[in-house]
Amino acid sequence: MTDTPFLQTLAVTKTYPGERLAGVKRISLTIKPQKITAIIGESGSGKSTLLKLLFGLLSPDEGRVQFKGERIWGPEEKLIPGHDAMKMVTQDTDGLNVYAKVWDNIAVLLPNTDVTTKEERTTQVLKQLNIQHLADKQAFFLSGGEKQRVAIARALATRPEVLLLDEPFNQVDTSFREGLQQDIRQVVHDMGLTVIMVSHDPAEVLSMADELIVLKDGEIIEAGHPKALYQNPQNLYTAKLLTNCNVLSADDARNFGIKTKVEHVVIYPEWAAPTGSWTRKDFTVKQVLFKGSYEDLLVEKDHIVLRLLNDQPGKYRTGDTVHIKISKYLEF
Ligand code: ADP
Ligand code: MG
Repeated sequence: MTDTPFLQTLAVTKTYPGERLAGVKRISLTIKPQKITAIIGESGSGKSTLLKLLFGLLSPDEGRVQFKGERIWGPEEKLIPGHDAMKMVTQDTDGLNVYAKVWDNIAVLLPNTDVTTKEERTTQVLKQLNIQHLADKQAFFLSGGEKQRVAIARALATRPEVLLLDEPFNQVDTSFREGLQQDIRQVVHDMGLTVIMVSHDPAEVLSMADELIVLKDGEIIEAGHPKALYQNPQNLYTAKLLTNCNVLSADDARNFGIKTKVEHVVIYPEWAAPTGSWTRKDFTVKQVLFKGSYEDLLVEKDHIVLRLLNDQPGKYRTGDTVHIKISKYLEF
């Protein structure tokens, strides 16, 4: 009995009227409990559609969605759409009552039958999302990042088993975003929450996800641990989603000494580095882009530009000639 999958889709297809090619097709996946699963894909690849199917906001045309072995009811079968054990947070924080205090925005979701528990739980989620200091502030005066934290605190207040996040960090500053991501990881760890998040930000999915699902044109093209998908993607599409990589044609790659029979050669910025060769200086540094703790170098040979990562800022200047050693590449 413990073998019953937690949350799964079985050959689920959902298309939109008049848009036969849009939506998702024959998606079969199993979500592991108490982990963070990230769904990544280009805009329009079906990420939000898949998330809504998992939550019960949409009904599949074909196939089934099951939570702990039971079919999830669609919106036409349920008074309040969405599975009771799940909560979804999107970019819009419309659910917030901007005239009420943060505290009340959370407490209002909890039953009045037990006032002590209501207070304790509200205090607890405020603490989990690191917003205790905002408890008495009116929601109207919150920043975008703070609103997003309150929205997640509200979702967690009633202790859902599954939290669905549809690109909720888009409007949050990068510096705030990392803190929020850490806090969510902590909640997953401490409370055994299951998170399914949709994103197109590689930094986000690589650092947060335990499991990564790649969607293209409504179909899963690969899935696995973020590290494995990053190091060894099976598709050019995946590599391009996960990193700002160099994609060379076979001819261009041959110019760099890579003999290949395939169409594309992919070199990640960290797989190419200047070396201290005295004799061969066949690349020219075209641009040095300072990034703080590292630099992006744009180097050129025979009109082909390669972007590479240099962890010794200040070492190279525009116009320098260098030799480049390529330690790894992928073929597609
Ligand atoms: P993503 O979240 O990856 O950007 P979506 O799941 O929102 O993708 O959409 C997938 C495809 O389905 C897109 O081509 C989109 O235009 C289409 N689509 C989404 N919702 C609807 C709808 N309500 N009616 C018609 N087409 C839709
Ligand atoms: Mg979307």
